[in-house]
Amino acid sequence: MNDNIQRLIRLQEIAFEIRDLTARRDAVPGRLAELEAAFQEKIEEIGAERLTHETLVTEVAELRQAEQESRQRLEKAQRKLMEVSNQREYSAVLNEIDATKTRLAQIVTEISGREGRIEELAEPAAEADERIAAERQRTDQERLAIEQELSSIVSRLEELAAQREELVALLPAPYVRRFDTVFKARQGVAMAKIFHGACGACHVRLRPQVINLVQRGEELISCESCRRFLYAAVEGETDEPTDPPEAPSDKQGAPRPGHSAATGS
Ligand SMILES: [Zn+2]
Repeated sequence: MNDNIQRLIRLQEIAFEIRDLTARRDAVPGRLAELEAAFQEKIEEIGAERLTHETLVTEVAELRQAEQESRQRLEKAQRKLMEVSNQREYSAVLNEIDATKTRLAQIVTEISGREGRIEELAEPAAEADERIAAERQRTDQERLAIEQELSSIVSRLEELAAQREELVALLPAPYVRRFDTVFKARQGVAMAKIFHGACGACHVRLRPQVINLVQRGEELISCESCRRFLYAAVEGETDEPTDPPEAPSDKQGAPRPGHSAATGS
């Protein structure tokens, strides 16, 4: 196969890799924001548990105070019952005893309800600081992993840009121009491997003559349907279609500045 056609194939591979890496690079800020939001949500949840625990403990202390007061009132009323001298006073004291007993029962119920919840929350609340620290650490580790991934993406992109420049410098200008024209017009896919006698990109069946010309590998041959440049699988290569990654819409597929193969030509 003509060296220049080989170079164009490599140029296409580089373009695919750049497209994937660029998408991954552009997703990084969103991933970091998501990570931080999840952390904030978690610490709010932990903080809310601690706050609920504190509130319940305060309420129980107040209720115990009220319970003690009610018990004292009850004892006082019971003593008073022995000293009353008439029926009217007797009824009044009895009423007071009943009311105090009702109130006491209510307080005891309120205390026991809160104590159950306090018990449930005691450990999470006591460990809130440790849990927040652990969440922070986990989040930091994840962020570090994402940042490391980003830095390897960025250096790989630099590598690819350099490789592309080298290739473009080696290619005769008309090859680069033709490649670029199809690349821009065809959603970033200028090269198509022949697969089962059809164009690997648009899947239209190719005439035997066209296939012969492509196999000879002497010049650039276009698919008559999609205009992409065809190439034959290298002997021994696994015969699989060269379906490009999900072709983006025309608008998104337009090469970004600096990503065009023609850069520097
Ligand atoms: Zn085609």
